[in-house]
Amino acid sequence: MYRFALAGNPNCGKTTLFNQLTGSRAHVGNWPGVTVDRREGICHVGDTEVTVVDLPGIYSLSPYSEEEVVSRKYLLTEKPDLIINIIDATNFERNMYLTSQLTETGIPVIIALNMMDEIEAAGDKIDIPKLVKKLNTPVVPISAVKNRGVDELMEAAVKTAEDKGGNYFHSVLSDTPVIPIAADIRKITAKYGINISLFSAIKLLENDERIIDSLDLPKEARELIELVIHNSEEELDIEWEIYVADLRYRYIAELSAACIKRAHSPEELTVTDRIDMIVTNKYLAIPVFLGVMLLIFQITFGGFGSFLTDGMDRLVNSVAVEGLRGFLIKCNVADWAVGLVVDGIAAGVGMVLVYLPQILLLFTFLSILEDSGYMARAAFIMDRLLRNFGLSGKSFVPMLMGFGCTVPAVMAARTLENERDRRMTIILTPFMSCGARMPVYAVFAGAFFAAYRGPVVISLYLLGIAVALLSGIILKSTVLKGEAETFIMELPNYRFPSAKTIVLHVWERAKEFIVKAFTILLLASVVIWFLQSFSPALKYVDDNTQSIFAFMGRLLVPVFRPCGFGEWRACVALLTGFVAKEAVVSTLGILYGVGDASSTAAIAGALANGFTPLSAYSYLVFILLYMPCVVAFTTIHKEMNSWKWTFFAVAYQTAAAWLMSFIVFNVGSMLF
Ligand code: GDP
Ligand code: MG
Repeated sequence: MYRFALAGNPNCGKTTLFNQLTGSRAHVGNWPGVTVDRREGICHVGDTEVTVVDLPGIYSLSPYSEEEVVSRKYLLTEKPDLIINIIDATNFERNMYLTSQLTETGIPVIIALNMMDEIEAAGDKIDIPKLVKKLNTPVVPISAVKNRGVDELMEAAVKTAEDKGGNYFHSVLSDTPVIPIAADIRKITAKYGINISLFSAIKLLENDERIIDSLDLPKEARELIELVIHNSEEELDIEWEIYVADLRYRYIAELSAACIKRAHSPEELTVTDRIDMIVTNKYLAIPVFLGVMLLIFQITFGGFGSFLTDGMDRLVNSVAVEGLRGFLIKCNVADWAVGLVVDGIAAGVGMVLVYLPQILLLFTFLSILEDSGYMARAAFIMDRLLRNFGLSGKSFVPMLMGFGCTVPAVMAARTLENERDRRMTIILTPFMSCGARMPVYAVFAGAFFAAYRGPVVISLYLLGIAVALLSGIILKSTVLKGEAETFIMELPNYRFPSAKTIVLHVWERAKEFIVKAFTILLLASVVIWFLQSFSPALKYVDDNTQSIFAFMGRLLVPVFRPCGFGEWRACVALLTGFVAKEAVVSTLGILYGVGDASSTAAIAGALANGFTPLSAYSYLVFILLYMPCVVAFTTIHKEMNSWKWTFFAVAYQTAAAWLMSFIVFNVGSMLF
């Protein structure tokens, strides 16, 4: 039983390899910062069981952002049996910097030279035996995406772990003055009973504060070390921090020149360069971006999306709901039970499943954006614009992910190094309209704005963005003062999105959605049915205006009357919406659709009794802006790590929601 850690730069294919090894379906994306937490899985190599740990990408062992700290801490304190260092062979030199540090940690290292398919396609040649000899570290060429070389890699890895690294060891700083001084430092700490790795010794030499703090050295030891450092700097007339980095870079440049023959000179334009000349062009970038977004939304919410939804609606209603009702009646099941199963559970869950195809379509597009590498460009393009609103380009990726689901989007905010920027992003991301809100829009748009379905839904998405940006300005000059940090993000090479990655990714979402429909929403439907079928005295009531729900709803009516939807059914649906936004549809479905048909068309008809087009729109505005759901709430709390900020986020979002729908309703009433 071994533990292997996967370490490497962001975007080098760690998660792809992790998924190949463990058969899991973790999220892969072509932009740096996809994996923000570590993840473990098991794989078998012959008879040996290996736990593989997927870590967030790091450029070096001197971390800056939070997810980088996760990796460094894991490697240095939890000491895996072996590090599988994944290198993007198309970016060899940059990736090698981390390698040069990893080999000094004292943990055995094996190098997985990834993306060999791209190297071959480009006609580049890498002399692997020479690389092994020079680095004195095992190197296995692989292609994680194509699952090539992965078995060989794991066999070699287990062998290296069995030998505890064997004779393999290398520091690119061997034969430089760094080694003897580092040895002196290790001797000093050993004298005080603390054994440190060569890497830590070099970090002490570089005056790295985190290492100094983590080692807990006695004062005398620290003073002795400072003396050694000071004297040697005087003697050699250097500053260690700069000198060490410089030595590493120089070594890597020589290594690369000796072992890699590129088919094209670096000055030649690559495909990525050519695409970027258009996509990140000063004048074309924004139109291209808007064009891409418009296309996605048009397909998802326009004709094609509605076509899918209509088909699904027919399927769910004729097969699931009505079929089930017929069956139960034939079986002579009691009326109330038919009501619970058909009008409660089947209608509530079915209602939401209707929108599954449309949601998956949106997810497919989002994952194509991610996997192709365009997402990182979009972040880059949006940086300048977002800066005006107190955000940075890095906030863009979480916010765009927010159109899918708020939960992973809030977690993705970890890539922001700066605490202020991160808080800001977490508070604003929920304003991006997530997939769960779509069914609510669709039902209302169908009922009240049949001719303008697409534009109405798109207007809500845009409103969410506008409120987020406006909030950026407000927060920037109040509770989150300051400017967003400068944007540094590597732009990865464009890649043809891998069908497998996209299918996995979308399937993962579909599964989540379906599981949610049959667990949380099913349960919610039962509870909703109960609350609307029984009076506060727990007596079964035929008329749901006498129910517990009506009682609860009426308490909220005064709060929402100024917004135009002071009707108990609408109010109470906001409460269930907090469980999951889709539940708003189930609730209204159950509350309005009782008794007879429960198809979306019937609900639409029934809604006309409770809403006018204006109050319906104002209601949608509230749905758009208030806290997405319980899961989002707990995620925000986890990521903020502070109750104060969590409640601030909730309070801010609720206030914004109320205020905006108040404005929409009242301005609308004056105009129409
Ligand atoms: P991570 O950030 O290191 O976890 O990287 P990911 O596993 O998310 O992969 C980053 C991108 O590289 C994705 O678009 C992958 O599809 C792509 N990728 C990973 N391995 C390979 C490979 O062997 N060949 C090619 N061509 N692409 C790869
Ligand atoms: Mg990853």
